[in-house]
Amino acid sequence: MTRRTKIVATIGPASQDEATLREMIRAGMDVARIGLAHGSIDDGLERYRRIRSVAASEKRRVGILVDLPGPKVRAGSFGSAGIDVPTGSTVSLVVGNDKSTSKVIEIDYEGLLEDIHLGDNLTVGDGGAVLHVIDSRPDHLVAEVSHGGFLRGRPGIHVPSDRLRIATPTDDDLKGVDAFVDAGVDMIAVSFVRSAHDMRRVGTEPHPRGPLLIAKIETRAAVDNLTGIIEASGAVMVARGDLGNECSLEDLPHHQKSIIRQCIASGRPVITATQMLESMITSPAPTRAEASDVANAVFDGSSAVMLSGETAIGHDPANVIRTMSRIATRADEEMDHEVWASKLADLRMTDTSGDSASVTDAMTMSAWRATEELGIRTIICVSGTGFTVRSMARYRPRATILGMSPDPATIQQLTLSWGTKPIPVTLATSNADMVQEAIRVAVETGEVRSGELVAVLAGSDSRSRSANVLRLERIP
Ligand code: PEP
Repeated sequence: MTRRTKIVATIGPASQDEATLREMIRAGMDVARIGLAHGSIDDGLERYRRIRSVAASEKRRVGILVDLPGPKVRAGSFGSAGIDVPTGSTVSLVVGNDKSTSKVIEIDYEGLLEDIHLGDNLTVGDGGAVLHVIDSRPDHLVAEVSHGGFLRGRPGIHVPSDRLRIATPTDDDLKGVDAFVDAGVDMIAVSFVRSAHDMRRVGTEPHPRGPLLIAKIETRAAVDNLTGIIEASGAVMVARGDLGNECSLEDLPHHQKSIIRQCIASGRPVITATQMLESMITSPAPTRAEASDVANAVFDGSSAVMLSGETAIGHDPANVIRTMSRIATRADEEMDHEVWASKLADLRMTDTSGDSASVTDAMTMSAWRATEELGIRTIICVSGTGFTVRSMARYRPRATILGMSPDPATIQQLTLSWGTKPIPVTLATSNADMVQEAIRVAVETGEVRSGELVAVLAGSDSRSRSANVLRLERIP
């Protein structure tokens, strides 16, 4: 069986060279993520061009997602060799962004002394160390290390998001947006979103003309304002690293499930991210718990699962992708398509206003039912913006979804959609011509065979705003 759940892999020092990128693409990377938190925009653009060039030479379609750092607060560098900050020791916290030691930690947040209060717990890295603030002096804070750790580089410091006075996207983020939109990036992820307004402030054109905007859900406010944020976004990421700092850990798996459910209801692709195969940064195989985490993220309904440090700084990025691919493929195989689709009846897009959404909702459900009842193996979805394809994917059909579009940007953005093979097609004016063209391309690309019955979902003509015609056609 071919894998249906997509894999997003972060490109970093361990994976930016051409040979490793090539191996990662061959191993199954569907979307490459460039994080702007750890390098300049120019470094990011260089990685971007290299990924495009390697993907083209491999003749593989790889989406590119640029992840904006947002108002991430970081510590001054602990150096690449790292420094042990032991449990029970006392540290001073000062404003700065140069160098940290086991005694003095610099923090690049001007509001440190005003916004951090006695009794606050500051998490360093994704749970690497916890600093409990016990005293406040005129020029520094004093903290007890309640949970020690070995700290390297410039780890993030989690400042509770309701205290943080910096808005997202930051001015630096917007410079990144300009540079990557000019370069033609497919998707942009926005960090530390607190409201739908934060997503609108990115200011790009709606997709597919602009990039698909991905809201990272990693603040308490984002969990509270989820419905509006989803509505204002093209896709969503369950950013468990920072979300795990904002909520209690025992709540995190439940937030994951409920965020995913709401994304499915709205037809938005959803990525489950962070520490999925963390131990593989140094080990050749994952822990049993990590293997279960990936499979459970698939069962929850993730469109994609993401690798962060595992591929950015890990010792064998391609091996991690192969491992994730095996676990996800096996989980996809076990997916109970019947139960899934029947549960979807409760998650129809009824809260989405406008005819085109409810028409697409009804048509995709009919397509799902037809393919199940008739044992159809391929659904051809012809779509301008990708909305119909994403809506179809919500049903998790057993049939392969061919996401066909005349728009090259839509095609690239569909690399993130569950179970979808994006294929370019030429636009025809009438529905009959469009269906014939889609079938011709499906045959030419070897996706369907002569004699096979296929479902084709497309608009009644080139002006229709939704896929309002479903045809069941036998391939000549
Ligand atoms: C996260 O917090 O889980 C996340 C994906 O964000 P970042 O890796 O940018 O901190």
